[in-house]
This record gives sequence, structure tokens and C-alpha cells, in this order.
Amino acid sequence: MPRFFKLGRLQRKVLLVISVIVIVPMLVAGWLAAEWVSISFEKRLQQWIVDAARANQNWLQAYQNDAVMLGRVLMEDPTFLAKVEANPEAAMSSQMRRISQELGINLIQLYTADKKLIYSSIPIEVDTQWARGQTEAVLKVLRKQKTMLAAVGITSIPRRNDPRYYLVLGSLLGQDFTDELAQLTGLKARLYYREGKNYYDLFSTPGERIALKNLPAAAFERLEKSKKSYYSIEAEDGKYRGLYMPIVDPTGRVEAIMFSGLERRGVQEVLTNQVALFLFIALLGIVIGVFTGLLLSRLIVRPLRYLRDGVMQLAGQNFNANVPINSNDELGDLAKAFNAMAARLREARDEQAQRFQKDKLVAMGELSAALAHEIRNPIGIINTSAALLDKPDYNPEKKAELTRMIREESLRVAGLVQDFLQLSRHRQPKFAFIDPVQPLERALDLAIAGPNPVNVHKQFAHGDAKIKADAGLLQQAWSNIFTNALQAMQGKDAELSLQSWLEDNQIFVSVEDKGPGLPAEIMPRLFEPFFTTKEQGTGLGLTIAYTLAEANGGRLEAAVPQGKGARFLMRFPITHEALA
Ligand code: ADP
Repeated sequence: MPRFFKLGRLQRKVLLVISVIVIVPMLVAGWLAAEWVSISFEKRLQQWIVDAARANQNWLQAYQNDAVMLGRVLMEDPTFLAKVEANPEAAMSSQMRRISQELGINLIQLYTADKKLIYSSIPIEVDTQWARGQTEAVLKVLRKQKTMLAAVGITSIPRRNDPRYYLVLGSLLGQDFTDELAQLTGLKARLYYREGKNYYDLFSTPGERIALKNLPAAAFERLEKSKKSYYSIEAEDGKYRGLYMPIVDPTGRVEAIMFSGLERRGVQEVLTNQVALFLFIALLGIVIGVFTGLLLSRLIVRPLRYLRDGVMQLAGQNFNANVPINSNDELGDLAKAFNAMAARLREARDEQAQRFQKDKLVAMGELSAALAHEIRNPIGIINTSAALLDKPDYNPEKKAELTRMIREESLRVAGLVQDFLQLSRHRQPKFAFIDPVQPLERALDLAIAGPNPVNVHKQFAHGDAKIKADAGLLQQAWSNIFTNALQAMQGKDAELSLQSWLEDNQIFVSVEDKGPGLPAEIMPRLFEPFFTTKEQGTGLGLTIAYTLAEANGGRLEAAVPQGKGARFLMRFPITHEALA
């Protein structure tokens, strides 16, 4: 997948929210808009088609009106009937022909009452399917083997009584008639002339006569009986939306049906189709929504992602983390603040490293001085004693004393070195899943094995809780504590209280003696190396015990005693599972 489409969780959320905010209302609005547009566009189309169809109808009737009017004028001549009876051809005076021509009337015919042709201005065959009393008609004519229509006015002679003759005046309509109408209104026009009960279109397909069918019965009823127009959005086999209009002569006969329609295709089809419109708007909405969401999520989430990466780097101790500043807004300020913070942390780390190095050197110096001090005394004593022993005349009793001192002092140095070694590099702990009082009791057994009796109270309430520790190392730590305790009680009425309990998911183990206790002023220095109040002390016992407790995941501290003595306490986290 391209990088652009790999979205983080926050980015996906922003995208989702924006999409919901933009797309859902867009869909609702789209549906309503589509409904409104399609309905109102359909209405407008219908209105336009109806208006245009009326113009088409007028155009056709204009031909017939002129013919009817001319017929009436001729009938005003009371001698016209006599003239026709005498000589039909002569009855059509040249003046009348000229007027006809002026009016665009190119067909003048005279028929007997039984529709026998007795005069025709042009050689033409007319399908004389008009009814008695009908004054206008659209008739099929055959001219030079070619079928055409004629829009005619029919005048009976005489006008009021039974007709003895019919004067037919009219205009021939060829193929170009409907084309002319199409040009006039922009609509497709079809003229269906009447033949008996059926209606036929002559002009749409040259040389063919197409019957008007596929109209519902109700449509024919409306057109023929009510003489009203019929509008259909699926006219002419669904290819057009258009209006069928009856052409009615003044006597009320439907002489033809004129269709004016607009082909169904292109933009108007989309604009009138609610579903298509809706899909279009919805698609547009979704594209805009997704695009906005992506843009926003990139604008907001990207800087946030840089910041998150920066913070993660810092958390991983990479103080060189730097966030690009891409904008001048709040996010840009945040990035700047982050970079400043990272820079300060870098400086602080460097300072700390330097200080640590310095502190280490100082501590080493102090340690060396203390060690030197501790060793210098016994070495001095050994040295002097050795020098005195060299004197030959020296009192043998004194010599024995000197030898004892040399041994004692060298043992002291050896003990010191032993302690010191323990402190500096005690072995790697070997952890096991153990009962926390097990090393305590072992150390106790060794401590009280001496000649002086010790009264021991045990109160263990840690149940089955176990700790992960090296029993040997902890035993050593407890040994140092017992040594101090027994030394403090100086063998008299020695009494030790051992306790264990559970608290805050930790195990506490304490040892309390009945000695003089710990003076408040030495409390802060108890665990310092070489801190001792004893003449023969090394000051390393508690320091070693402290580091051993820590090496086992615990902590050693001086606790408030229940009696007047000293109380030391170790605490460990409970381990729930056995070690593998
Ligand atoms: P050392 O025993 O060699 O003096 P430690 O580090 O073991 O060194 O002890 C440091 C000091 O803490 C002791 O010198 C003593 O003053 C004090 N101390 C330790 N344990 C006790 C105790 N149980 N009662 C009183 N004082 C104690």
C-alpha cells in the first residue's frame, strides 16, 4: 500500500469522524436535493413541452383556419352554387385562385355530395374520409405516387341545407412539415392523421405508415372523448417524453393527433432521475468527505505522530530526539517546546554524567582514605611489635604478649580485607523460590550456637508467601545483623524477637534485640561504609547487609523498635510463581 494510505489509529478516527460529519448529512441533503431537482426539472420539462406542443398545434391549425375562412367568404356569394352547377372549373375564378395562393392554399377541390371529385386544382387523389358536417380535416393524399397529408377546410355548398357539393381548400403537408415544426419548437413532432378508428404517422419513416398504438386505453379515452391532451414521460415506446394533442375541428371531431416530444437522453435524463442524481451527489459527497478527512488528519495527526515518535525516543533514553517544525500554529509551538525540552534533557544528562564521574572519584578517595586509615593502625602495631621482638634481651612474657598482638592485629587486617572484598565483589546471586525466613533461621542458628544463652521469640505470619532470592547471600546479611545485636546485648539477658508479616503485597521480616538501641544521631550514617562506633569495628557489617538485601530484590532499613533495643527490617516483593 502506498505510504499515503497507511493511516495511524488517530488518523483513522479523524477520517471516520469527518466522513460521518460530512458524508452522512451530504447523503441526506443529496437525497432531498435529488428529489427536489428531479421533480422540479421534470415539471419544467413538461411545461416547456406543453407550451411547444401548443405552438405546433397552432401552426397546423393556421393552415386550416385560412382555408375555412376562404370557404366562408366564397359562400357569401349567393350565386356561387349556381356557378358551380353550371361549370365547376369556371366557378373557381382566377381571383379566388390568386387569394388562395396568397394564403398558401395550394389545393382546391370540388366534390359532389357523394364525394365524387368534379374539380381539382392539382392532379391528386384524396382519401375523402371526412364526415358530414366536418369542417376541418387532415386527409391522406396521393400525389405522383407519393403519399402526403393535406390540412384542409371543408365547406358544404350550400352552407346551411343538405350539402350538394363540398368545397375542399387546403395545404399539402410533406415530409418537411414535421421538420419545420421541429425547427420551430426544438421538439420532435409527429402528426398522426385519422383513418377510420385508427391514427397513422406518414412522415417519420419515409414510405411507411406507422399506426399509433402502445398508448394506454385511458390515453385514447382522454384524447378522443375528453378531447384533452395526454402527457407521457415514456411516450413513443419509451424513447420520448412528450404530449399527444388532439386536433379537433370546430364540430368537435378529432381529425388528427399531434405528438410533440423530447428525446430521452443526455443530461436531462440524469437531472430527472432521482437515483442517478443522488448517486452523483453521494459520490461527490464521499469524495469531498474522504478528501477533507485525509487532509485534516494529515494536517493534525502527522505533527502529533512526529511528537509521539519524539516522546518515545526520549522514553528510550535517546536524548537526540528532534521533532520537525512544519507549522506556525499550536502544533508548531508544541514541537518547538518539545525540541527545547529534549535539548535541556541532553544538557542535564551530560551534567549528570560529569557530576557522577566527579562523585565517583570523591567516593573512591574517601574510601581509600578510610581504608588506609583502618589498615595503618594495625600495620603500625604489627611493625612496632615486630621491631620490639627483634631485641634479644626482651622479657619472654612481654614477647608472648607482642606475638599475641601481632596475631590479633593481622587477623583484624585479614578480617577487614575479607569484609572489604565481600563488599566490593560479592558473587552473582543464585536465585531460588524460597521461604523468606529460611536464611534468617539458618543465620540465627549459627549466631546463637555460642556459649551464652539467648532467648528467641518467633512470630512468623507470612503464610506460604515466597520470595525470589539467594538464600546464602541473605543468610550472610542476617548474620551481620545478629552479630551486631549480640554484641549490643553483650551476652547479658540476651533476647531476640523475630517477626514476619505481609503488607502491601510485600513480605516484611524483622529482628529486634534488647540492647541499648540506635542513637538518633547515628541513624543517617548506619549503612555508610566504615561507619562504626566500636573500637574493633570495621563499619562494614551493615553496609554489606544492605547491599546483599538489595542484590536480592529487597531493602534493609532500621525500624522503630517495639521495645528499647534496635530493630532491623528487610522487605521483599512477593513472588507468585515458582522459578523455572
Ligand atoms: P561494626 O559492627 O563494625 O561497627 P556495622 O556496620 O555492623 O559495623 O555497624 C555500624 C554501627 O551501627 C555500629 O558500630 C553500632 O554503633 C551501630 N549498630 C549496629 N547494630 C546495632 C545494634 N543492634 N545495637 C546498637 N547499635 C548498633
